Amino acid sequence: MNNSTTPDNVGVDIQIAGGGDAFGSGGQFQTCFIVDDSHGRFAIDFGATSMVALGQLGIDVAEIELVVLSHLHGDHFGGLPFLLLHRQYAASSCRPLTLAGPPGLQGRIAALMDCMYPGLWEGQWRFAIDFVDIVPDQTTTVLGRKITAQKARHFAGAQDCLSLRIETDDKLIAFSGDTGWRDELIELARDTDLFICECNERIDQPYDTHISFETLSRNIDRLQTKRLLVSHLGPDMVGAIDSLPVEAATFGLKLAL
Ligand SMILES: [Zn+2]
Ligand SMILES: [Zn+2]
Repeated sequence: MNNSTTPDNVGVDIQIAGGGDAFGSGGQFQTCFIVDDSHGRFAIDFGATSMVALGQLGIDVAEIELVVLSHLHGDHFGGLPFLLLHRQYAASSCRPLTLAGPPGLQGRIAALMDCMYPGLWEGQWRFAIDFVDIVPDQTTTVLGRKITAQKARHFAGAQDCLSLRIETDDKLIAFSGDTGWRDELIELARDTDLFICECNERIDQPYDTHISFETLSRNIDRLQTKRLLVSHLGPDMVGAIDSLPVEAATFGLKLAL
């Protein structure tokens, strides 16, 4: 992937701009993956730390035309106010920005903006902001990408939490989002070029809203994907990164699909 110029129109490239948990354990950035395809550049999730992470990677955030959101927790969408402000005040580009995520996203963005920068949301934006609902069990085409969603086992208030399967340029990317284990993830990952699966902790926990490495290992042979990355890494997983038998979504990792 070329970080500083418009992506060429060959292949699909992904760079990990954050594969850490909500707490930034081990200094990892929160969830954000940058995808370059023939349509341009989009982000999958945009955690509160994502602008800093993208700055470190030298990625021009003004080139992001679409952000696809798995769910509306701060470590997955909390960086959007800074992205919006950057476009409003710092970026040379005024391209439209599309935000796609669980129904109710627009109201949550308005509330988030009102909390962080009171009065700005209702003002005049110098670029168009479009919202697209991604509904579970449906396929939605957004700016050339086909997005199919499952309802994840996770909780973010009134809005659904999603596991995503994104098709672009004949490549398939699946992302579990935050979720406890569900057998439906096998279908989500089937025949994908890349499956990014959350794996918050090493051993099973009393709660089932995240996946442990123990649980993932029990199911790993059922996942038919060309490449598996574990993400949303809590402290135990970060500490074990070098000894894991699976590849981790480490900061800056580049993949060419
Ligand atoms: Zn999370
Ligand atoms: Zn979450």
